[in-house]
Amino acid sequence: MRIDAVDFFYASLPTVTTAVDGSQDALLVRVRSGDDIGWGECEASPLVSIAAFITPPSHGACQPVSASVLGRRLDKPEDILAISADVAYRSMDVLQASHTYSGIEMALWDLLGKRRDVPVWSLLGYDRSHGRIPYASILFGDTPDETYDRAREIRSQGFVAAKFGWGPFGHGTPNDDAAHLFAARNGLGNDTALMVDAGQVWRTDVDAVRARWDALVDVDATWLEEPFTGSAFDAYAAISASTNPSRGPRLAAGEASHNPHMARHLIDYGKVAYIQIDTGRVGGIHPAYEVAQHADHGGVTYVNHTFTSHLALSAALQPYAGLRRHRWCEYPVALSPGAPPRPPRTRRRRPRLGAREARPRRHCRPRCAGAVPTRHTDHHRRTSGMGQRPMKIDEAFAALLDRVSSRSRHSPGPMFALVTSAGPWSPLAHRGPARTRRDNAPTEQKPGGSCSGWSPGNSAVQRG
Ligand SMILES: [Mg+2]
Repeated sequence: MRIDAVDFFYASLPTVTTAVDGSQDALLVRVRSGDDIGWGECEASPLVSIAAFITPPSHGACQPVSASVLGRRLDKPEDILAISADVAYRSMDVLQASHTYSGIEMALWDLLGKRRDVPVWSLLGYDRSHGRIPYASILFGDTPDETYDRAREIRSQGFVAAKFGWGPFGHGTPNDDAAHLFAARNGLGNDTALMVDAGQVWRTDVDAVRARWDALVDVDATWLEEPFTGSAFDAYAAISASTNPSRGPRLAAGEASHNPHMARHLIDYGKVAYIQIDTGRVGGIHPAYEVAQHADHGGVTYVNHTFTSHLALSAALQPYAGLRRHRWCEYPVALSPGAPPRPPRTRRRRPRLGAREARPRRHCRPRCAGAVPTRHTDHHRRTSGMGQRPMKIDEAFAALLDRVSSRSRHSPGPMFALVTSAGPWSPLAHRGPARTRRDNAPTEQKPGGSCSGWSPGNSAVQRG
């Protein structure tokens, strides 16, 4: 079978702010091959990513992503790897290409898995999938009090771990940052793991990290994420070499990787202990799988990076589904309206922690007693496609649209305004050589008022 069509669906809040919240917009990808459909999601600036797919060629190494995808055969996993190699070579100077192709690559795996009725992780070579411990991923509050309140809310939802990041952290003094760290710890209690994401705020300033290290040790942070820019390998190596692995946080990074080589460099030269990969940026599921294998062999822990929809979360879990040791899973909990709902509370259970996480926790100031660690693994298995059934990306996409529709009907506040390829003028969809009867079907209105622009059957631009 050949790849007949690739359609992009761009969803955005009416107003996009400067908050570092990746759920303010989304770029979903639908791939068609014969009667089969696969879904994916890009983690990138949506319109720029669409441009990388449809842009006219500039020269031989500057071709649109579409040139390597449309019309290609899709019968087996090796076909996806061949397409990936061609995109990397023919579009090497289209710098957004890896973001664009990441969503397409996910959709190709999804399509192939559904065609064979097997999970995507089995197509990667795993014989089973393992449960994960989701950590709640949330931004620091504007004030320590706000950070404390958010931590209490996370705790009330039953998470066993939480990651606070971005916001004001790193922009003030070390004492300012310490106030947020202790607020987070106090809100979570001493028996909930705390991760910290600095969001590249110190660029390459190693001393800035050292000035905050004691506070990070005092709050028993599991890891410090992205203190430096994504490729500042020397800075990462300097901190790694000067800190005690058995006391205090370890370094985590990798979400900025646009290809597996960048991630491997962080492991091999930056000496990070946790490598965090976004399948919507790194080139898709298989490049993330390559990083996971390299991390596993090198004693580094692989973690997904996800701050968008459950569609992206489902895809992000496939690359390390079969690696038992890598237990953490990023789970965004503060998505913008229109994003998938939060998980329900689950029965409180003590997590099975490894050697590092199980070490006695020191008391933080002031000590918060009485908490019981929990996990959301059962729910997570259901929602992520990590169970025994095939990957259900289309279900996740349907849930996203239902959420949008529900918000449109019941919420007077901001909502996703779906902007998509509603007419032949639109650049938001690109259809390949094979145009089917279904492609010309009338618009199917989705319920929900302002979402009525969404139109899966009317999103074509005839090309090729
Ligand atoms: Mg991060």
